[in-house]
Amino acid sequence: MEVKRNVLLNPGPSTTTDTVKMAQIVPDICPREKEFQQIMAPMRRDLVKIVHGGDDYTAVLFCGSGTICIDIVLNSLLDEGKKALVIDNGSYSSRAAEVLTYYGLPFIDLKQPIYTKPDLNVIEQTLKENSDIGYVYMTHHETGSGLLNPIREVGALAHKYDAFFITDTTSSYAMIPINVYEDNVDFCMASAQKGIMGMTGLSYVIGKTSIIEASKSFPKRSYYCNLYMQYEYFEKTGQMHFTPPVQTIYAAKQALIEYWAEGEEAKWKRHQRIMAAIHEGEEKLGLKEIIAREDQSGLVSAVKYPDDPNWDFDKVHDYCYERGFTIYPGKIEKQGTFRLCALGAIDAPDIEDFWKVFREALEVNGVQIPVRYED
Ligand SMILES: *Cc1c(COP(=O)(O)O)cnc(C)c1O
Repeated sequence: MEVKRNVLLNPGPSTTTDTVKMAQIVPDICPREKEFQQIMAPMRRDLVKIVHGGDDYTAVLFCGSGTICIDIVLNSLLDEGKKALVIDNGSYSSRAAEVLTYYGLPFIDLKQPIYTKPDLNVIEQTLKENSDIGYVYMTHHETGSGLLNPIREVGALAHKYDAFFITDTTSSYAMIPINVYEDNVDFCMASAQKGIMGMTGLSYVIGKTSIIEASKSFPKRSYYCNLYMQYEYFEKTGQMHFTPPVQTIYAAKQALIEYWAEGEEAKWKRHQRIMAAIHEGEEKLGLKEIIAREDQSGLVSAVKYPDDPNWDFDKVHDYCYERGFTIYPGKIEKQGTFRLCALGAIDAPDIEDFWKVFREALEVNGVQIPVRYED
């Protein structure tokens, strides 16, 4: 069977290989069968191995999009009498602050600029002044802007003040090499449709087993989204507590085979190659980004809308979409941006093809090239 290949430049789900797509076509199976559990056990170990964790780390799988992991870690890992510290410098860390608000949990919403790396002195000062901080939470790669946060340094600060460190690595995991020991990460998370280039519906928290076990006595705030409960069920039965996303798990199994075949370093090099091609095309057209290159993740480029009366994101999007390329609106308040992302099973030649189509889209709509900016 031939499947049309689309190049997705949105921040996930990403372009997948046909072998991953086809891995979902399996005989019907009840996920309570041993045969199915035998897929999940090695998968959990593989997911820990991707971030170089040893026997002291575990992976807990959930059925849901990536946000389910944010919800789970925030509500499950805060002990009575403790408060959370959220480094809030982008749309995904703001989402974390919102989750804590919905649960009515005590937290410090430490707002930091969204265009530059956060101030480590302010973070340290906050930890020093608040001895009741249970965990520090930071988004590794703020997917809305493309900003990369300094997790190693912030993780070290959290540990210095006896807090554990949770980072949302949904848009960096299995792309930017991460080592939980060197990067001082107690908990990280991701979703199958991003770094491993699988399908939507499977997400995972990877973290320190000792802390998960300690969290058994923490207050239970959610029935479905509780980390200890899901972990315990896996340990006892090898299964998810509730129905898993069966076909997505078959796809993830194949995606992991392909991850190890490509290799951590080669894969990261490929993502960087894709971003270099994105940057090259931007320069040719005069497009400006909102984050300085040295602060970028290398996975997302957030581009300012040109100041041209004929610029219309939707029209450019539709032109590209009809030709198999998906671009994505930005997530920056008060500023028109769109995003080009280097995720998925694509490579530099796909980006070169994309820029030809994008240039045509500008021409067809009468947008001046090179593009104009007022400032
Ligand atoms: C994609 C993403 C998520 C999860 O978003 P969903 O829409 O729930 O899949 C969480 N955090 C970051 C940083 C992301 O990029």
